[in-house]
Amino acid sequence: VLLRPKRSTLNSRSEVNLEREITFVNSGATWKGVPIMSTNMDTIGNFDMYRSLSKYKMLTCFHKYVPNIPHEFDPNYYIISTGITDRDLERLSDQIEHLRSGGVEPKFICVDVANGYMTKLKDFCLNLRSLYPNVTIIAGNVVTREIVEELILNAKVDVVKVGIGSGSVCTTRLLTGVGMPQLSAVMECSDAAHGVGGMIISDGGICYPGDVSKAFGGGADFVMIGSMLAGHSECPGELIEEEGKKYKLFYGMSSDTAMNKYHGGVASYRSSEGKTVKVPYKGSVENTMNNILGGVRSTCTYVGASRLKDLNKCATFVRVNRQVNTFYK
Ligand code: 5GP
Repeated sequence: VLLRPKRSTLNSRSEVNLEREITFVNSGATWKGVPIMSTNMDTIGNFDMYRSLSKYKMLTCFHKYVPNIPHEFDPNYYIISTGITDRDLERLSDQIEHLRSGGVEPKFICVDVANGYMTKLKDFCLNLRSLYPNVTIIAGNVVTREIVEELILNAKVDVVKVGIGSGSVCTTRLLTGVGMPQLSAVMECSDAAHGVGGMIISDGGICYPGDVSKAFGGGADFVMIGSMLAGHSECPGELIEEEGKKYKLFYGMSSDTAMNKYHGGVASYRSSEGKTVKVPYKGSVENTMNNILGGVRSTCTYVGASRLKDLNKCATFVRVNRQVNTFYK
């Protein structure tokens, strides 16, 4: 799809406001910032990424194995991740205790499982809500409306993370045949979430700045990015040099690489659902961020949205059989 341009009274992209002010339905907390975030993969979501993205008032979703978060970090711009096992809850409680010992109250927790349809996710979120009533809870991943409503209304989640099989290093669709087209999922799930006062994050499949605009245009409140942020100096991991070229490693959190690192191998009852790739080194992430923000601002001027919040209302999609001219490959 492409976004149809519309008459606009905006004269410059500098007139576009990319910040949003949000009050969350179940935590009651408020937040102000640019609603774009880095993924909680361990090749992306670390402290150096926070240091760069927070300058843009964007969020960094830390991966669940990060060490103690420095007390001077602003909790408005980071998210603590967790899985749903007892060990995960222990690790999360330790992190929160550490933050509180420095007088810091965490603002966001992301409960992240590959398959958000498991009943255990709902139980885990309800328990979290009773333990931390004022924290904003993000949970996923799912791709259909009924579970979005269930998570917000009955599991007291504030923001639902949407996307199954759309990630760049994801092999779920090939391995299981399961998935939903990302933009369709965003449209369906945002409609469901907004109907009950909640919000969604579009997670996976962002390859170009225009994709961020399309996600917001489709109704996403937040956009989460992995591969576009990979390969930068802020990303954890060694710089690999081969034949004069520099690379960084990027791999799925369900890949052999991640499972060998954290679980001592792939358990016999499961298989790898992620790829491992070498990404050409791209320097500082700030160049990429400027590119993304410039792109989204430009979209807003094309469709007449003076605030990012209005992009959804101003967006009309046109279905195409080709998005770009490939004459010069
Ligand atoms: P990207 O922005 O790279 O297209 O997508 C990033 C998203 O891919 C992550 O936020 C996460 O939801 C998903 N993801 C990360 N690792 C894996 C994996 O190993 N398997 C699958 N199926 N998805 C993954």
